[in-house]
Amino acid sequence: MKAWRASLLRFPEPAQAVLETDGLLVVGPDSAGRQVVQAAGKYSALAPRFPDLDISPLPGRIIAPGFVDMHIHYPQLDVIGSPAEGLLPWLENYTFPHESRFSDAAHNSEAAAFFVDELLRHGVTTALAFATSHPASVNALLGEAQRRSLRMIAGKVLQDQHSPDGVRDETEQSLLDSEALITRWHGLDRLGYAITPRFVPSCSEAQLRGAGELAARYADVWIQSHVAENKDEVAWVRALYPQARSYLSVYEQFGLLRPRAVYAHCIHIDDEDRALMRGTGTAAAVSPTSNLFLGSGFFDYQAADRTGFLYGLASDVGGGTSFSPFHTMLAAYYVGREGQTKAGLSLSPQHLWWQHTGGAARALGLEGVVGNLLPGCEADFVVLNPQATPLLARKTAQAASLDELLFALIVLGDDRVIENTVISQAESASGP
Ligand SMILES: [Zn+2]
Repeated sequence: MKAWRASLLRFPEPAQAVLETDGLLVVGPDSAGRQVVQAAGKYSALAPRFPDLDISPLPGRIIAPGFVDMHIHYPQLDVIGSPAEGLLPWLENYTFPHESRFSDAAHNSEAAAFFVDELLRHGVTTALAFATSHPASVNALLGEAQRRSLRMIAGKVLQDQHSPDGVRDETEQSLLDSEALITRWHGLDRLGYAITPRFVPSCSEAQLRGAGELAARYADVWIQSHVAENKDEVAWVRALYPQARSYLSVYEQFGLLRPRAVYAHCIHIDDEDRALMRGTGTAAAVSPTSNLFLGSGFFDYQAADRTGFLYGLASDVGGGTSFSPFHTMLAAYYVGREGQTKAGLSLSPQHLWWQHTGGAARALGLEGVVGNLLPGCEADFVVLNPQATPLLARKTAQAASLDELLFALIVLGDDRVIENTVISQAESASGP
């Protein structure tokens, strides 16, 4: 067992954070040999229970749960910051040409290693990721995640129509490839597979039907896609499925709404769609830096909470502009505040932080597994330095409450705040 003494940020209740200013985190193997939180709380209360432990002191530092990114495209590393007239031209001019390079094995493995390095540098310890339509891109990413003992979920993109040469796949083969990847990766170590139709326009009816059949056959496999990001995209789906009640209902028709189904964006939806999400256990991956960058619109937090469906935060790199959970949380605050197209509200810093940790884990069906530091959670955590920059040091020193401290980190923080990222290991590995 190992232990660290520092301030400790946890979520005993959803969106309710507690900071133990002189805390102790004790990590040790569970019955399966995986490093999990054995105890977390006040140092003075816990230390006598572990008299033989070698405790690492981290004065002035905060230990917090590793961040969970609900939607990110690993092949879009090089697409960040590409300007376009909205989503559809951005896909055509930047995204598809870049993704076509992932037919090359050497390119895949270099990008996968860079991607995982970048996640960890920013304190992200779990991600639900799109690969490309090439099965080798999934093998590269999940292989890299396995080497680093990461909890990672990924899938081969399905796109058999309205897609250029180089990324378009073939209907029957795409479904065979997806099933082979499920068999190879899903449930292996800390890895999971996600059935990944890119979005309705890129998939034929036969491909969507096949994806739904896979989702029914493998009930604990994830589903990831996009919905209602952009008004031109919504109009395109209406032209393709004129009889459908809504864009989201097309996914329902093919059996693609259920627990562990995660849809990025969910901006241009109505209350009937929201009720459908709640009723089916489907989750939204809110992607605020991407939505602001591409000018897509604003996620309606008040409507989401009124209905009560699951959601959490996501970078959506490369439509998103940063790997940093701090940048994403700040952008989510901007999106919440926006009050011209929907009701504007001020999301609390505890709620923002929850959306990128325990709340995201809950939306992924991984509550109690990652995203928190309660006993039994896998020991993925970050060591934060609240003095990482002169302005942060000045601002956090004046924080009179937990909300003020967290808000200073959200507004002023970036990768410089992440002093260390620690990943839960299996017992046979070297351990954190
Ligand atoms: Zn996306």
